[in-house]
Amino acid sequence: MREKKRWCPLFGKCGGCDYVNESYDYELMMKWLREEKLLSRYGKVEKILPAPSLTGYRCKVQAVCGRDRDGKFITGQYRKGSHHLFPIRSCSLEDGMATAVLQTVRQMATRFSINPFDEDRGTGDLRHILIRTGYFTRETMVVLVTARKDFPHKDDFVSSIHQKNPNVVTVVQVINNEKTSMVIPDGAEEIVLWGKGYIIDRLCGLDFRISATSFYQVNPAQTERLYEIAMNMARLRSTDTVIDAYCGTGTIGLVAAKRGVKKVIGVESNPLAVKDAILNAEANGIKNAEFIADDASKWLKKAQKEGLKCDVLFMDPPRSGSSEEFLAAAGRMNPEVIVYISCNPETLSRDLRYITRFLPYRVLGIQPVDLFPGSEHVETVVLMSRVNTLD
Ligand code: SAH
Repeated sequence: MREKKRWCPLFGKCGGCDYVNESYDYELMMKWLREEKLLSRYGKVEKILPAPSLTGYRCKVQAVCGRDRDGKFITGQYRKGSHHLFPIRSCSLEDGMATAVLQTVRQMATRFSINPFDEDRGTGDLRHILIRTGYFTRETMVVLVTARKDFPHKDDFVSSIHQKNPNVVTVVQVINNEKTSMVIPDGAEEIVLWGKGYIIDRLCGLDFRISATSFYQVNPAQTERLYEIAMNMARLRSTDTVIDAYCGTGTIGLVAAKRGVKKVIGVESNPLAVKDAILNAEANGIKNAEFIADDASKWLKKAQKEGLKCDVLFMDPPRSGSSEEFLAAAGRMNPEVIVYISCNPETLSRDLRYITRFLPYRVLGIQPVDLFPGSEHVETVVLMSRVNTLD
């Protein structure tokens, strides 16, 4: 099946993909070569773990709202490197639920005369639509990113979206009135317009609630395998104190806690994700996990100074990677094992350079995992262990 030809008529126009018109073998080879170039100086780069599904895997879809030349309401993506909105009616990488809900949004925005936001003129209301679907539960959330709090026919518009799509369990509004290309600015408020304000998905045998602004991997099926690899690398013991840095809704830490460690401490800068993490621990009956809303670097430095000891450190920073402040504090805390999960091999390489130069750790394993078929992105798990000075 690997060699089957993939083809998308939108390729090169919408700017969302890099390899979707190539064979999957070619894509995996290119991704591995990039990893090899950036990471092989630290250790052997294992064969990339292929994704179980090449289509329909994206459970989080963000669309820009606009109008075409004929004035029709459209949703789509900006062409790569431009501000030209390209209309997308369906995308083979998206979960079908997102395709259906976006169609409703376009129809209903037209029916209720809701205007897309026009960045140049500063007029209109709907900026972006974000759709999130639980891979295992099919619960769906619609996030309306708007320029203002109120817009015409808001209640009718919201009701029509969930009435036409019974899997939609909540509609949330986020206001973005800034001049920014970010979909949801940091610290944006979530206003629940209808339903419970979050969706539940089931991952690695645990239930996770995910709010509108909380991070959740876009490809949950492959994420289960990613976490499995990270857990096995860590060789968790019942006496271990585990830190889950950049923990989002607590996914990695809670999967570790379920495996029976002594204690898990998660740290994350988005307070709404931390709220999710605390409730996720509670909902899954996990009592040995706590979550802290703070900058990971600042908190780790403080905790280390206060004498906190940790045996295993999981770190899963955003694309910009970690910081020297964080890594230096991690070194002083002296965990036996560090498992670094990265979505950007460039910043991973930079951080590994610091760790292997200045801290007493050696790289024992580098495992790339393909979470994003069709795109150039690739996830990597790196196992590091403390060098025993008596070795
Ligand atoms: N481990 C989680 C989330 C990983 S994404 C999961 O697998 O789902 C990276 C997370 O780091 C995001 O939730 C983001 O909000 C958080 N983050 C970004 N910068 C941070 C910082 N300086 N300190 C703590 N958390 C940060």
